[in-house]
Amino acid sequence: MKQLLLLALLTLVGCASRGEYDFALVGPAEDLAQAQVAADMWNGCQSVHVTVSYGAQPGKQTITFQEGDTVKGQAEGTRGYTDERGNITYVHVDTPVTTILAHEFGHALGLDHRKDGIMRPTLRGGETVTGNDCAALDGR
Ligand SMILES: [Zn+2]
Repeated sequence: MKQLLLLALLTLVGCASRGEYDFALVGPAEDLAQAQVAADMWNGCQSVHVTVSYGAQPGKQTITFQEGDTVKGQAEGTRGYTDERGNITYVHVDTPVTTILAHEFGHALGLDHRKDGIMRPTLRGGETVTGNDCAALDGR
């Protein structure tokens, strides 16, 4: 019984210290699976838990698909953008959607660009969330 109580307390403490982020995807339904892969990259970190659901919902940060190779008036070749409220806009270009969204999730979680990991300003695809990216979350 004592062990069960201790486990319950540890679970409570663990949940309390983990930031919860819930994004709502507005765009091609087939992108949801890739958005979940991007979320799971961040879920490897101890300090955040990211979930993604389909369809706009009040109060949730949105991930919006946009046609073309320009996002919100940004320069040609821009693949994703996170606004000051943590809402994300992205396009389909040569960089995989999973990589773009994992990077933009990082901004929505409060991270700026870094020299390594998923928060590098220029990504080619294949990058993932690193231990340094997780550590940066703790320094937000
Ligand atoms: Zn960026």
